[in-house]
Amino acid sequence: MTSLDTPITTLPKTSSITFKKLKSVSIDTFHDLLSYVPTRYKDYRTISSIRQAQLSTEAVTIKGEIIKTTFRPLKAHLSMQIVTIKDPTGQIDCIWFRQPYILTTLKKGMNILASGMVRRYGSSLQLYVDEYDIYRNEGIMLHSGRLVPIYSEKRGLSSKTLREKIAIVLEIVGDTIPDPLPKELVSKYHLIDEYTAFATIHFPVTTADAQKARNRLAFDELFAIQLSSRLVKKDWETQKVGHPFKTQKNIKKIDDFISSLPFTLTKAQKRVIREVCQDLSKSTPMNRLVQGDVGSGKTVIAAVAGYISYLSGYKTLVMAPTEILANQHYQTLTTVFQNTKLTISLRTSSNKDTTGDIVVGTHALISKKTNFSNVGLVVIDEQHKFGVSQRAALKESGVNPHLLTMTATPIPRSVCLTLYGELDLSLVDEMPVGRIMIKTYLVPPQKRNASYTWMKKQIHEEDAQIFIVCPLIEESQHETMQTVKAVTQEYEKLQDIFGEDRVGLLHGRMNSVEKEKAMANFKSREIDVLLATPVVEVGVDVPSATIMVIEGAERYGLAQLHQLRGRVGRGVKQSYCLLFTSGTEAKATERLNYFASNSSGFRLAEYDLMHRGTGELYGTKQHGASDLVMASLSNRELVETTRKCSDDFMNTFQLSEFASLETRIKKLQLTQIAKD
Ligand code: ADP
Ligand code: MG
Repeated sequence: MTSLDTPITTLPKTSSITFKKLKSVSIDTFHDLLSYVPTRYKDYRTISSIRQAQLSTEAVTIKGEIIKTTFRPLKAHLSMQIVTIKDPTGQIDCIWFRQPYILTTLKKGMNILASGMVRRYGSSLQLYVDEYDIYRNEGIMLHSGRLVPIYSEKRGLSSKTLREKIAIVLEIVGDTIPDPLPKELVSKYHLIDEYTAFATIHFPVTTADAQKARNRLAFDELFAIQLSSRLVKKDWETQKVGHPFKTQKNIKKIDDFISSLPFTLTKAQKRVIREVCQDLSKSTPMNRLVQGDVGSGKTVIAAVAGYISYLSGYKTLVMAPTEILANQHYQTLTTVFQNTKLTISLRTSSNKDTTGDIVVGTHALISKKTNFSNVGLVVIDEQHKFGVSQRAALKESGVNPHLLTMTATPIPRSVCLTLYGELDLSLVDEMPVGRIMIKTYLVPPQKRNASYTWMKKQIHEEDAQIFIVCPLIEESQHETMQTVKAVTQEYEKLQDIFGEDRVGLLHGRMNSVEKEKAMANFKSREIDVLLATPVVEVGVDVPSATIMVIEGAERYGLAQLHQLRGRVGRGVKQSYCLLFTSGTEAKATERLNYFASNSSGFRLAEYDLMHRGTGELYGTKQHGASDLVMASLSNRELVETTRKCSDDFMNTFQLSEFASLETRIKKLQLTQIAKD
């Protein structure tokens, strides 16, 4: 029995070039290759006799014996290969272009199956060959006369090569490959077995079979993700916190602190604080994700938790994704705690102070040589899954703190339960009173100039300050030099419009001193307009900014647009969001109109999920959703079923009994570590 974990390099009859190509698309094992599933199939099932073959718009397959081969040079580098075949009803020329090697493979007397389109040539017909097989008596057809799998042809890997290699692997592993799922569950959930699923997804007889195979493999994917979360959660529940908190004893002080805030908490904030307090009174470490739209007031929730940590005698670490945000948290917390004895320090690349009761910094805080021994609570802003590795680093240094993760990324609940299943969820689903709805408008190219005029008027008459988010150059979440170049050009253009010294620039390639200066200039109103890249900009708080302009708006998911829009509307003035679009594609316009008339991040995220699928789901890219090949998180039924199945598994089985499942889950968790 050959295991699916067998290295791909053991594949027989394979050239080193092919090995290189396979490696370049991360195909390292047999399992990886089998998991490289087709994107579609070509239907070459119709086999026609030569006499019946006729001009048509559909592909046809013809079977016959080669009676003649001809090489015909055409002009320049073009050549034509003609293979004449016959069957009992007649003969036909099969045509290839520019593939002289065909004639070293195909010889007179061989029987072949050729699939392609029939075209007229003078008074006769020809078959323009797309795929062919040499026909041997018992031979299995891979490329013609059947549903033929077509793969994503990356790095020069052709569908033909992939088909051949996959067929070999299927033959080597045979139908003895272990099912990662226990038999009981396979039959309970009416699944086809694992080998059949792999064999059929590549070489189905009918499209219905292919669909069944896809369902099984999709099931596996979602099941593995959910089981992985269950396992992390179960392990978490066996942990003991390093420093138990004294929540009960300090209730009075906590109440006093909350009363000292300059505002009344919303119902949602109170509910979440209660949930957090309950967690903190336990000896099992908290592992909670607090989700709430931008401006829903999550910081104060973290502050209350930090206060309890302080009252219990321990330090709190607060980690933000960028130094700008860390700085902002520092400012906010300093204000919130001004009437207490609690001290706060800001740890940046230039300031190493970690003496405060609360230490604020970037996510790098943990990997730095900070002394953790007295840390009771870690608050993580905008990083959904606290890295397995970071937690390990904390545990190694002897502490097992409570973890509170916060995010403004609206993730639909069903998705959250799947991707972040090990976290307990809290929702801040209510905005503080008195927020004014942001007016959102679509601006097509012909209205661009008029909108600049309007903006200038807003600056002069209403003291407006404007964020302009420059267009995404490519899909990448990271900034490239190309983006920096584009933003620099845009910057010069905006200087012409708004005045040379009225515009600031903020992008990821600037150093932290430059970034802080740009932010400070904007906050202190020395500039009216801040041009920023989407990467840098997340989470920035400038209450006096009232206009958000988003270039190339159609290229964002709604949830991401929502986050950008949330940067304005934080003060008392009416705020605006202008969506600059470059096209008039109806679907895009419909999406953006939906966005313009909706202010709930969760509703927008649901819309993204239903209309654009998970690939576009903002904030989930880095955490597993993009690893899903066959499954879709928008398939609620499957998500639900696999969740039940993973519960069943946890109740009855040990992971270690299912080796291939264990490998998959390890791999899944490793990719997560790599991404954190
Ligand atoms: P986010 O959830 O985006 O992190 P913040 O915690 O930064 O939001 O809060 C946004 C602003 O709202 C802050 O200035 C904060 O002081 C204020 N705020 C928080 N809670 C309330 C409340 N219940 N009523 C009024 N203002 C509040
Ligand atoms: Mg925040």
